[in-house]
Amino acid sequence: MNAVLQHFSTHLLLNVNDYPGGVAIWGALPAVFDTSCEGFDHGVHVHARLEMTSKKSIDATYQVVETICANDVFKIDETAAVHFSMASIFTNPIISLDCAKCSRPITSLGFAAVLPAYEHPCQYCGHVNATPIACVINPIMALKERLGDASVQRPAVVPDRMINIELADYPGGVQIWGSNPSILWTAHRLEESAIHVHAYNHEGKRVVDNTFGRVTLAGQELDIDMIRVLQIQQALPGLLAQITTVYCPECGISQFDQGQQAVIAHTDRTCLQCHCDFTQPPVISNPVWQQLKSTFENFSHE
Ligand SMILES: [Zn+2]
Ligand SMILES: [Zn+2]
Repeated sequence: MNAVLQHFSTHLLLNVNDYPGGVAIWGALPAVFDTSCEGFDHGVHVHARLEMTSKKSIDATYQVVETICANDVFKIDETAAVHFSMASIFTNPIISLDCAKCSRPITSLGFAAVLPAYEHPCQYCGHVNATPIACVINPIMALKERLGDASVQRPAVVPDRMINIELADYPGGVQIWGSNPSILWTAHRLEESAIHVHAYNHEGKRVVDNTFGRVTLAGQELDIDMIRVLQIQQALPGLLAQITTVYCPECGISQFDQGQQAVIAHTDRTCLQCHCDFTQPPVISNPVWQQLKSTFENFSHE
């Protein structure tokens, strides 16, 4: 049996053909909730299996992953991976494009990763490249197309696992992430869409490390879609300060802003429940942010 490679490394040379059991790659984003002192691995997170039923041969995070595919080498760095993960939870078109002036691959950074545009400044030389459609640019799209995995959003299953988390049960802390679509997915089974949890005991040993379809935190269920959107929102500079919970003045239901409304503060709303139109000062509404903050504050004050 192969030992699972878990230590942090800076570089991985990965031949996709060596892992018929499937390769999955994500950009690693910080947890949306974290009471641990564990921090998280920045970079490109890789799972690889030799056979579909075997244990993971690789489960680690790298600064750079070079993927060998059909005699070409595609380099995936943290910047491209993280911005691809950010881009992929919305339905905007993503294409690969080399700068017309310096020939290097363009990556749409920050808000440009979530807001499609016609003009794309090169992050190396500053030249502004134009596209005929409004889109997001990311070099990982070229690799996906070469591998025959051009879909950004693919069917996913919600796993039939649940966990009730009481923070007092895990003195070493709890970390929670939303699962984003992987950058690359070559396995023949469906990807899982869910909430990823790490929890640590009093010795700092990780006693929970799994992906769940249902998670309750301090007795309240977490909404998977809100968690996934929050994970992108907190990766955008300055955006968390604009996030609050807006309630409909007619029916009182809390509002969840999605798509472009999840990343641009706005004043005019239509209630998701009763469809009445109303106006508010410019904010973004994602109720899970307040839920997580209250849980954290209640716990710290105990
Ligand atoms: Zn350039
Ligand atoms: Zn309403």
